[in-house]
Amino acid sequence: MRLFRRQSTGPLGSLKGISGGLETALLLIDRVGNVLFANERAKELFGFESLEGRTILAVTLSHRVERIVRDTAETGEPHTEELGLRTTNDLIVIARAWPNPDQPRQVFLSLRDVTEVRRLERVRQDFVANVSHELKTPLTTIRAMAEVLADVETEDVELRAKYLKQIVSEVDRLTALVDDLLVLGRAESEQARLDPCNLSEVVEEVVVQLMPKALVRGLELEMMAPGPLMVSANAPQLRQVFLNLIDNAINYTVEGAIRVTISESESNEAIVTIQDSGIGIPSEDLPRIFERFYRVDKSRSRSSGGTGLGLSIVKHLVEAHGGSVGVESALHRGSTFVVRLPRVIPAAQGPHQTGS
Ligand code: ADP
Repeated sequence: MRLFRRQSTGPLGSLKGISGGLETALLLIDRVGNVLFANERAKELFGFESLEGRTILAVTLSHRVERIVRDTAETGEPHTEELGLRTTNDLIVIARAWPNPDQPRQVFLSLRDVTEVRRLERVRQDFVANVSHELKTPLTTIRAMAEVLADVETEDVELRAKYLKQIVSEVDRLTALVDDLLVLGRAESEQARLDPCNLSEVVEEVVVQLMPKALVRGLELEMMAPGPLMVSANAPQLRQVFLNLIDNAINYTVEGAIRVTISESESNEAIVTIQDSGIGIPSEDLPRIFERFYRVDKSRSRSSGGTGLGLSIVKHLVEAHGGSVGVESALHRGSTFVVRLPRVIPAAQGPHQTGS
């Protein structure tokens, strides 16, 4: 009596089954460099429906990959190397080749895509380098001035007062930087709790908070809202978003007005527009201004107490709320930042409302 019916899939059949769901591309290559087998991920990576029968060079367009496969076939030793690949995209992969234990002249090749990992590592390294630089500049200034003040020979009272004032302003800059770094760190590590929240009220609080600053600079600051507009949000984070945007609008405007408008779109979005009549942003800088530490004019940003982190915080927080932020700007005429957030639909207006 037969208890089991065995399905004969052959060695390549079982390889297909085992490697079909892998994230890593896997290929089996014969001793002259032809592909005998490729899993789904490999086909996806190289944009071919079928790879079998093609040479590994034709598939990968990489002499380095071809070489490690050849070296492995000749020496029987496994080889691992990180290399760049030009497939449908530019990729960084870890290529590992090892001999097929059943057929020593055949070689298995796995390609693990580490492009995103390496990109994130680079972003992190750049960030650390930028933070160190941003900390070093004020620290160097503070040190130099403290040295002058410590010199008992310096009796010039005006000079002492000037240097002390500058030290205080450098310390303020360091404090602002550390505050922004803390906000950014918290925003990136915590999943904030979202509750129904009246957007108009949050924006109004920020406008009231920044009104004295606008007035001191002779700028008009006005707000238009259609009444309460509910969004699902973390109120302190939302406050931070509009604080950064409206504060920037004030800092980068010499004369004229800042208008904050709240509206709702037909697709159930709440839209906040912050329009200023300020210095504007050159079109070539626009795509980069949401990057950490990117500033159009470093000295202007510094003199207004900017850290270069405000807009990256805005983007991060708005996206964590399921929204988006965009900007349009004309040099010397002004900028308009637009924040879009998903609305909370009151039950009575909800799209799934049923009833007689
Ligand atoms: P900062 O602390 O330097 O203001 P942000 O991240 O808030 O940093 O902004 C990045 C840069 O974008 C600023 O340095 C400035 O060059 C530019 N920018 C931001 N908002 C405005 C605005 N409303 N008008 C003109 N330029 C702006």
